[in-house]
Amino acid sequence: MPTETFEFQVEARQLLRLMIHSVYSNKDVFLRELVSNASDALDKLRLAVLRGDTPGAENSDPHIEIEADSDARTLTVRDNGIGMSYDEVGRLIGTIANSGTAELLRELRDAEDASGAEGLIGQFGVGFYSGFMVADRMTLVTRRAGEEQGTRWSSDGEGTYTLESVDDAPQGTSVTLHLKPADPDNQLHDYTSPWKIREIVKRYSDFITWPIRMPAQPGEDGSTPEPETLNSMKALWARSREEVSDDEYHELYKHISHDWRPPLETVRFQAEGTFEYQALLFLPEHAPHDLFTQGYQRGLQLYVKRVLIMDDCEALLPPYLRFVKGVVDAQDLSLNVSREILQQDRHIRMIQRRLTKKVLSALKDMKTADAERFAGLWREFGAVLKEGLITDTENRDAILAVATFASTRADDEPTTLEQYVERMKDGQDDIFYLTGESRQSIENSPHMEAFRARGLEVLLLTDPVDEVWADAVGEFGGKRLRSVAKGEFDPGADDGGETGKEREKRDEEYADLLGWMKEQLADEVKDVRLSSRLTVSPACVVSDAHDLTPALESMYRAMGQ
Ligand code: ADP
Ligand code: MG
Repeated sequence: MPTETFEFQVEARQLLRLMIHSVYSNKDVFLRELVSNASDALDKLRLAVLRGDTPGAENSDPHIEIEADSDARTLTVRDNGIGMSYDEVGRLIGTIANSGTAELLRELRDAEDASGAEGLIGQFGVGFYSGFMVADRMTLVTRRAGEEQGTRWSSDGEGTYTLESVDDAPQGTSVTLHLKPADPDNQLHDYTSPWKIREIVKRYSDFITWPIRMPAQPGEDGSTPEPETLNSMKALWARSREEVSDDEYHELYKHISHDWRPPLETVRFQAEGTFEYQALLFLPEHAPHDLFTQGYQRGLQLYVKRVLIMDDCEALLPPYLRFVKGVVDAQDLSLNVSREILQQDRHIRMIQRRLTKKVLSALKDMKTADAERFAGLWREFGAVLKEGLITDTENRDAILAVATFASTRADDEPTTLEQYVERMKDGQDDIFYLTGESRQSIENSPHMEAFRARGLEVLLLTDPVDEVWADAVGEFGGKRLRSVAKGEFDPGADDGGETGKEREKRDEEYADLLGWMKEQLADEVKDVRLSSRLTVSPACVVSDAHDLTPALESMYRAMGQ
């Protein structure tokens, strides 16, 4: 097959231009990205071999190799992992696959000026293309495990890349960077220096579970010494807590989450006894943009005795904790256990229960120790956590203990249900809430008038999930949760409202009018009543206590029900 030339996607081109002209000072991260990809490729090969679905795959001595040539000014990162087919190279390398990268580009479009853009590079995982920060040409040779033909990809990052088939490629992938001319004033950035390579690998990739090797210099006598292994390969979760620095945790987090920012919180857990496992969990600082979409890939990495057997094991955490990232390493699971079996596995279910409690108690601790940090987390993930109020009755109280809600009491000071109950007025039996699209639309609702006039606090709930959990939970501390949009009640009946007699009299007085209105609106409403819930608006629509609230009604309608 002849060499074919392709154009990069528009997005890819934008990103490349940014990389090539980058003045981003921490260029070292390109090596972390290439090593991270090589490590992923070795993980994938291991899984493929375990599942036995890649006949012909070669799996002896899996490793990563970094080789520098200071005369040719090239740096090569090589792995003997899963590799890519011709089509895959075009699809994976020619496009923006990385979700972090997609997010980076979105932010770039919003960024006002180029200087803002430079700062952003540092915050996101930029993947394969980051090589163009230091190279003016990149070449990749790869062969997919089990396939015969190899593929060569090459680009100067300026707009096009070439693809051609090659015959004698070894299994796996090798990426060669043709480094930009060295800066004579800045020897620190000579990426062909063994010292520099050692330093970067140690800093960013020490925990990688595959050996990262560098060929040793030939000895004086012409002998070739053993290559040097640059990383310790020690699993962080297997080391003692004191021994691991925050930075090391953060690098692991970045590697598994593709988030470029450090996590908000790291949670460690060790279970001893008959079923032993270790867990290392991370609570991110920011919600990914796709958290509420079908395509969101949730789950923790599952290791069995240091061997990664599943990348996104959903069974380890309930869906409402899907934002949590991390690793579970279990001692006594079978290596080739399938996803389906895991869903049923008694031990996995046990791990899920323990981890759920562990995460919830970490949230509680954070709320006590650092309310502001917790507020940030709740802002990002509160809407997901509230799903747990519906689905996880066992931990409902633990979620309610940290759940915070906007309220009419203060603009910017959310409240817990417990605090609300403490503030309740004498004679107030219910916790009042109203759901709606925004704080403003709720506050403008006629339903609020009587409550405002009587100084009763109302929770303002704006997440779609709020209606459902409020119904499902029903009460807190013996106090009923009540939507102010539902049913017939009069928040001021005891303090100076009408007596029953006065009311009867007025009902009689207006009977004709009400009857006429009811007739006119027969198709629209069930009943027309006099009410003292309004102080300014002439009328409002309410639901029966057991009816759907308006927001839910429109939600169901939108779903075509
Ligand atoms: P990400 O790693 O976040 O997916 P990258 O830009 O780093 O994004 O890589 C894009 C894709 O290219 C990877 O998802 C992977 O499918 C493929 N790829 C990159 N490097 C390798 C490699 N060494 N071996 C196999 N596939 C690779
Ligand atoms: Mg990558």
